[in-house]
Amino acid sequence: MVYVIDFDIAAVLISIFVIFYTFNKKGLKAVSNRLFLALIIINLITATADIASSVRNSYPDPNALWRQDVWNYIYLAAHNSVPPLLLCYILSLLRFPFSRKKWVGVVIYLPLMADIALLFMNRTQRFVFYYDERGTYLHGSLFFIFYLIAFMYMATVLYVIYKGRKRIPPSKLMPLVVYIVLSVISLVIQMFFPKVLLEIFAQTLGLMGVLFSIENQDDITDKVTNVYNRYAFYETAPGILGGKDYSYISVNLPELTYYHTTIGIENTNAALKDVASFLNRSFKEMLCFDTGRGHFVLLGKEKDLVGDSKKIITDAFKRVWGKGDIKIKFPGRICMGSVSNSPVTTEELLLISDSGFEGNETAFLDAEDIINKHKRHILIESLISDALENDGFEVYYQPIYDRKSGLFHSAEALVRFKNTEHGYISPEEFIPIAEENGSIGEIGERVFENVCRFFNEARLDEKGIEYIEVNLSTMQCMDQALAEKFGKILDRYSISPEKINLEITESAATGNYMTLKDNVSKLKSMGFTFSLDDYGTGYSNYSYMFELPFKIIKLDKSILWKAYHPKSGAGEENLIILLESTVLMMKKMGYVVLCEGVETVEQKMVLERLGCDCFQGYYFSKPVAEEVFLDFIKVVNL
Ligand code: C2E
Ligand code: MG
Ligand code: MG
Repeated sequence: MVYVIDFDIAAVLISIFVIFYTFNKKGLKAVSNRLFLALIIINLITATADIASSVRNSYPDPNALWRQDVWNYIYLAAHNSVPPLLLCYILSLLRFPFSRKKWVGVVIYLPLMADIALLFMNRTQRFVFYYDERGTYLHGSLFFIFYLIAFMYMATVLYVIYKGRKRIPPSKLMPLVVYIVLSVISLVIQMFFPKVLLEIFAQTLGLMGVLFSIENQDDITDKVTNVYNRYAFYETAPGILGGKDYSYISVNLPELTYYHTTIGIENTNAALKDVASFLNRSFKEMLCFDTGRGHFVLLGKEKDLVGDSKKIITDAFKRVWGKGDIKIKFPGRICMGSVSNSPVTTEELLLISDSGFEGNETAFLDAEDIINKHKRHILIESLISDALENDGFEVYYQPIYDRKSGLFHSAEALVRFKNTEHGYISPEEFIPIAEENGSIGEIGERVFENVCRFFNEARLDEKGIEYIEVNLSTMQCMDQALAEKFGKILDRYSISPEKINLEITESAATGNYMTLKDNVSKLKSMGFTFSLDDYGTGYSNYSYMFELPFKIIKLDKSILWKAYHPKSGAGEENLIILLESTVLMMKKMGYVVLCEGVETVEQKMVLERLGCDCFQGYYFSKPVAEEVFLDFIKVVNL
């Protein structure tokens, strides 16, 4: 019989291409990648041996049967190695922990050992194949055992794929199924047309499919750190987290833009790559994902994989990272868990990974804490939206004392939730959330409208109130239509803009400064005046202060408290000097100086001595509701 070897030749060429491609690409060197490489190399050997043995079998030389024998043995050994390798490959895709369950690896290879033993015995017994007197290759009485074992392997492969189908994304499942279907179809064809050697070609095509859809890591690998990317995380995490047991580690590095600008992108990337490779190396049974911006998540589909990782990571984060001239010592925020039946979702895990970074030390965070904070965040978002729909905001007023007149000549408007079921929620908590989701614009407008209405209805100017201070958020400062919106509200309540003093914090300038400047000048030309709020909280930028037309500088309570603590009255010498010279400097520059957070008579006296113009604080009054405020000024502004 003359065999048709054309398909085998094509299989050899394709296998060489796949091997070349696999070697050349920078990919993850996970167990599965190595097994794939082994699979395709065995495929190449099988195809080559098939060509050689078929040529020898087509044109047998009864005087040199040993040559025919060598290729037939190589072919059968290589061909029989494919199913167990395929089984291991699929198990590795499912992150089977081979290193801890070595016996599984051994058991998988036992049937192959039986194949090999038969081949050895064939040299004398000729149970598997033999030649007739003309040298024709013929199957022996026990050849069917090869089929039987191959069938067992394939059945196990199908069973494993079926069991793990939820943990393999469809994009990976399909090529595996196609590979198996192609192998089976080609095997059937070959049974009917034994001359046409189609089987290995079909398997090679299947492997090529696997290469491009599973092994080609480019779209799921982070280009910088060489570990799985955020997209891969979204693909894989639900499968792992949906399982009964799993382990996770989240490592969060500080804001990378700082390192980009100080030591350059290349050095930062080298350090990141170093961290990623450490994580990948140290937790081999877990998948390592770079979820972006210096955040890594490790996931394993069993519990107890994190073991003594706390020590491993703490020790590692004592060292510097990188390979170049400049290395980085990153502090890390680390969260880890070994979980059974826990309801952590993919989103929550990403949240743990993405959670904000504070401090300069490596620290271990409590995942539950982060998740609870997130839940609180969601709750507050919904309370804000409820309050916007149902007129659920109220404005409180905190009186401001004027030293010269000894009267309360103004007040700061501060937003409050109306009788919340959830207890008092401080604006310090909900304003940043409203800023984040954009609802602060709407809240700010409501506050402004409330202030105008109150000013008008209560005839505050007749009660000694010259103006009300209204806080502007950074987002409002960026709103091009703000002046127009405020103008309409002023008209509606017949309020003159001089009755409103707008407070802008220093941090507002960290947004788009040009827009802020533009907006402020529009509002100023309408007649509004401005305060610089929270002066001294860390963003002080003098050029910005001088360029914007502030009338009042509001010293943040932290400046006062550090110099004269409300409880102990104590303070550091340098901070006392800072407070004194700040008041002096601002006064010399012609600003009206207001100090917030005055809680004690001692603080008031010190500030009076320094020449501070206005005071605001619990010593005088807490922020109070409209009626209480009216009662207050009725008494004190007599
Ligand atoms: P802020 O504008 O600096 O307001 C002063 C804050 O200090 C108020 O906190 C006030 O209650 C508090 N305070 C005043 N005197 C004392 C004191 O003697 N002791 C202590 N412990 N605290 C004092 P509040 O009302 O919780 O507001 C916090 C921040 O939330 C405000 O800081 C402001 O940035 C923001 N905020 C409040 N209402 C609004 C608003 O309507 N719009 C915007 N954009 N932000 C607002
Ligand atoms: Mg304020
Ligand atoms: Mg303030």
